[in-house]
Amino acid sequence: MTAYADFYRRSLDDRDAFWAEQARLIDWQTPPQAVCDWSQPPFARWFSGGTTNLCHNAVDRHLKDRADQPALIYVSSETGEEKVYTFRELHSEVQRAAAMLKALGVRKGDRVLVYMPMIAEAAFTMLACARIGAVHSVVFGGFASVSLASRIEDAQPRLIVSADAGSRAGKVLAYKPLLDEAIRLSSHKPEAVLMVNRGLAPMTMQPGRDHGWTGLGEQHRGAQVPCEWLDAGDISYTIYTSGTTGRPKGVQRDTGGYAVALAASMKHIFAGNAGETYFSTSDIGWVVGHSYIVYGPLIAGMATIMYEGLPIRPDAGIWWSLVEKYKVTVMFSAPTAVRVLRKQDPAFLKKYDLSSLRALFLAGEPLDEPTGRWISDSLGVPIIDNYWQTESGWPILTVANGVEKMPSKFGSPGVPMYGYNVKLLHESTGEELTGANEKGVVVIEGPTPPGFMQTVWRDDERFVNTYWKSIPGKLVYSTFDWGIRDEDGYFYILGRTDDVINVAGHRLGTREIEESISSHPNVAEVAVVGVADALKGQVAMAFVVARDTTALTDDAALLRLEGDIMKQVDGQLGAVARPARVRFVSALPKTRSGKLLRRAIQAVCEGRDAGDLTTIEDPSALQQIRDLLAK
Ligand code: ATP
Ligand code: MG
Repeated sequence: MTAYADFYRRSLDDRDAFWAEQARLIDWQTPPQAVCDWSQPPFARWFSGGTTNLCHNAVDRHLKDRADQPALIYVSSETGEEKVYTFRELHSEVQRAAAMLKALGVRKGDRVLVYMPMIAEAAFTMLACARIGAVHSVVFGGFASVSLASRIEDAQPRLIVSADAGSRAGKVLAYKPLLDEAIRLSSHKPEAVLMVNRGLAPMTMQPGRDHGWTGLGEQHRGAQVPCEWLDAGDISYTIYTSGTTGRPKGVQRDTGGYAVALAASMKHIFAGNAGETYFSTSDIGWVVGHSYIVYGPLIAGMATIMYEGLPIRPDAGIWWSLVEKYKVTVMFSAPTAVRVLRKQDPAFLKKYDLSSLRALFLAGEPLDEPTGRWISDSLGVPIIDNYWQTESGWPILTVANGVEKMPSKFGSPGVPMYGYNVKLLHESTGEELTGANEKGVVVIEGPTPPGFMQTVWRDDERFVNTYWKSIPGKLVYSTFDWGIRDEDGYFYILGRTDDVINVAGHRLGTREIEESISSHPNVAEVAVVGVADALKGQVAMAFVVARDTTALTDDAALLRLEGDIMKQVDGQLGAVARPARVRFVSALPKTRSGKLLRRAIQAVCEGRDAGDLTTIEDPSALQQIRDLLAK
């Protein structure tokens, strides 16, 4: 057996010993009495009896060895700010923030809603919450009032921390009016609001409720606020899923299991070492930002880059310039960002010294082969696809780079990570599929590993019914993704379980059709949805963003390309998979985290209401499709 295969088997067959070992990667105030308690499935409890603190593990414990090394590197290409905080400075900023939270009445267990742009104060606030045992609920700063209001309603925060504004592509987005409106819309009212003033947008402060970060911070300069020792099972935070398939779910996470899971993943998956620099291009509003901008790298003693801005401003070299300047060793991004870079001049990739970089991890959506190959050829380092969910908190499928250098296969995120008993089940019979290339629902058999969601915030029933009761007769966690496993045990994700179309009795994954279409040289991006059809039940409709539009000046040219693409699908998948139409658009509707909103496209194609669009990035992309269909 290979090194990783052994490692994986041990994580399942000798579970408690395996995770007891991982638990030693972090500091405990009181060591855990038990490792895994699975006496009340599907609620897994990890490290009962242990007390620890995420902030202690991310900050305080590094003071001994690396107080004067960089911890948080804040860079904004929007405002031109750039500031490096050492572990010592971070420690003092976080204590000051913790003192402010306490002064505003925040106690252990209280929720603090964080609605902030990518600024250092956002990280201070998250770590300060962890320090005093408050539960943070970070809401992506790009959301407007209605989305924010529903999250305020759900999280019931005592305090909201925000800022005057964010900035995107040089355009200032004022937050305060949106926040005020959201609080007005919500039936729950926070007792206090703490505002960072970046000097980007004017703010109207509400006396008695609103406080300024700088003014209050002045009063708490040099504050010492010790870490509160929390039970392993105490809640660290809640975070909402992306809302790609429906109403976002409030994912609740513990403290001890999460700390262990992150420490273990930094070692075994990301292979990052203390003293190095980690660069995740995500946003603190998403789970990747929680796990791999804030907590994971810091727990590992790495410096972490927090970047506000676009990948292509001031030019497409900005990220690579940071890799060179801060000697980034491990980088984490998303396929959608790579596609953006691919449309730019490739010379920017050659302009900087990227020799420090050991790997680029990509997650969040399928990594199509052309995009994967392009970035792999351009960077010359391993490109590591990894598959996970807000719910899991850390990768479910990938290659464990720190255990064994396993080869990656294009189109596959890899193999199940240690602790995850991943299976493929038949969607309706629940039968386990063990053969190569059999397609089923990707599920996880309990107990789910440390770091995995504890439950849905304030809704155990929704947790059980949504996630654990979808396969008849089996209590397993459903990812709601389709997958297959090849003869080497590598998984391929074929799309969401609600993304299957049925053409004249043939069940087709939209992802398979998209893969085929995107291998056409003039296709930059594609979305395929199933649309109700009187004759065939459903037909596939494709929406394509062309790479080069210079020749696509008239309808004849568009029709030629459409025919070309159809021929390609015919050749690769067969005529059943051929889309009824291939239409061309300049952008596809996506969530703010870059995921295709297929359900909204499908609804529009079928003349239905597009449903919950709170997480949509650019509503005009959906309008383009409406206009095309109306023509
Ligand atoms: P919601 O659950 O609210 O509909 P969401 O599922 O988009 O939203 P996330 O938790 O952000 O919210 O996304 C997880 C999903 O993203 C996975 O279930 C999978 O469909 C997709 N995904 C993530 N990483 C990958 C990957 N590497 N390859 C393929 N798909 C991926
Ligand atoms: Mg999901």
